[in-house]
Amino acid sequence: MVDRDLDVIVVGAGVAGLVAADRLAAAGKTVRVLEARDRVGGRTHSVEVPGHPGAVIDEGGQWVGPGQDLLYRELARFGLRTHPQPTHGAALVLFRGQARRYTGEVPNLDPVTLLDVGQTQRRFDRLSRTVNLAEPWRTPDAETLDGQTFESWLRRTCWTERGRDFFRTACEAVFATTTANISLLHALFYAASGGGLATLITTRGGAQQDRVVGGMGQLAQRLAAHLGPDVVRLGEPVRAIDQDETGVRVRTDRGTHRAARAVIAVPPTLAGRIAYTPALPARRDQLTQRLPHGGVIKCHAVYAEPFWRADGLSAEAASDSGEVKVLFDATPPDGTPGILLAFVEGPQSLRLGELPAGQRRDVVLRSIARYVGPRALQPVAYLERDWNAEEYTRGCYGAHLPPGAWTQVGAALREPVGRLHFAGTETAVRWCGYIDGAISSGERVAHEVLSADGAGPDV
Ligand SMILES: Cc1cc2nc3c(=O)[nH]c(=O)nc-3n(C[C@H](O)[C@H](O)[C@H](O)COP(=O)(O)OP(=O)(O)OC[C@H]3O[C@@H](n4cnc5c(N)ncnc54)[C@H](O)[C@@H]3O)c2cc1C
Repeated sequence: MVDRDLDVIVVGAGVAGLVAADRLAAAGKTVRVLEARDRVGGRTHSVEVPGHPGAVIDEGGQWVGPGQDLLYRELARFGLRTHPQPTHGAALVLFRGQARRYTGEVPNLDPVTLLDVGQTQRRFDRLSRTVNLAEPWRTPDAETLDGQTFESWLRRTCWTERGRDFFRTACEAVFATTTANISLLHALFYAASGGGLATLITTRGGAQQDRVVGGMGQLAQRLAAHLGPDVVRLGEPVRAIDQDETGVRVRTDRGTHRAARAVIAVPPTLAGRIAYTPALPARRDQLTQRLPHGGVIKCHAVYAEPFWRADGLSAEAASDSGEVKVLFDATPPDGTPGILLAFVEGPQSLRLGELPAGQRRDVVLRSIARYVGPRALQPVAYLERDWNAEEYTRGCYGAHLPPGAWTQVGAALREPVGRLHFAGTETAVRWCGYIDGAISSGERVAHEVLSADGAGPDV
């Protein structure tokens, strides 16, 4: 492997991999990015609405909000502008089959449930502030926090079933999985990493505040274009990586690429499906065996106009039941066409993913109509992306850690293995799971590679 051609091979042209390549190239390294798909962007992807030239929806990550300074900076660097998520009109909660409108950030739940939600959230926030973000396994009382699920903690802490249902819905909206699947320590870490649970579930002032004019997918395209021709190779799924003391050899379906080092910027579970020689340390492999993704089908229903606005609704809605538990307005800034964004999350997404497409569309539209009325049943177009079925993502929004994973194997998440370095939003300390976290992970890994090179060839 002495005849290495490049300084660094980056596996994965999502935002993390592209940022890593960008920073390494800027530092003078020769870089190649190998991407399995026929496009860049990974979990971000924007498409034009059929029949509506210029109207774009984001099938993947789309929002940016306060505190996500790296993402705002990167967007500005490429001249990409944001516009606020539309919030005209009343939001809606549909709990126990009863619809209630509200304005402002506090959902219109009955007073007892609200009190209960408030006291539970205060306890959650207090615990969340104790988390060691860089090394969650060193959090005070980490083993106790990591030895229980979010669900078991909720059952002890939240007094009412309605209150628990509020957090279960919030959990699916944030993690795309159920409270029973996540370690309490992970829920606390994730919330703290994004500035607190309230920030994660809030629109104005929170993580859903702004969208990108023309779609978030443009960020990856601009990064790839900036890297120059032939740096990003599409349609090259990496199958195997060998390393020795002189370099790495990366095998794809199309050939073999050699470099001094490799950055692996794919979701951890998928990183675990690459064949490594020599085999990775046991702790690293055990980690990638324990980082499942949540499940999401992101659906867009398109209408001639945003008819719900005339009814005084913002189309921001949440429910404790049904296939679509979270709804948003995805209408472009100029108001045409009207677009509703419906999330099918968690176990429901797996169930619906198995239905024939037409049947799934009907189920989703009926579920949307519960919030905005029967006009929802007649869209002029309907688009969906089942992220669970995507071979090079396999679920979303990101990976979550079940009980025991942070404390037993979490230390392997960012630890390089010889000449292999790991990036991706899952490795982020701030905004883990978000695009901002993907950017910071790319910057961190670039720094890591540059420092390792400085320290000599055998690090
Ligand atoms: C539906 C949805 C909604 C979301 N909403 C938001 C949001 O509003 N705001 C926000 O901040 N975040 C959101 N996210 C999360 C956000 O999109 C991700 O955190 C971020 O895009 C992850 O970037 P990444 O580079 O770490 O990983 P990825 O984007 O997953 O990139 C990994 C890349 O590696 C490639 N790959 C995989 N395996 C291989 C292989 N063997 N060989 C070569 N290439 C491979 C993949 O094709 C992919 O391009 C959302 C995600 C989804 C799916």
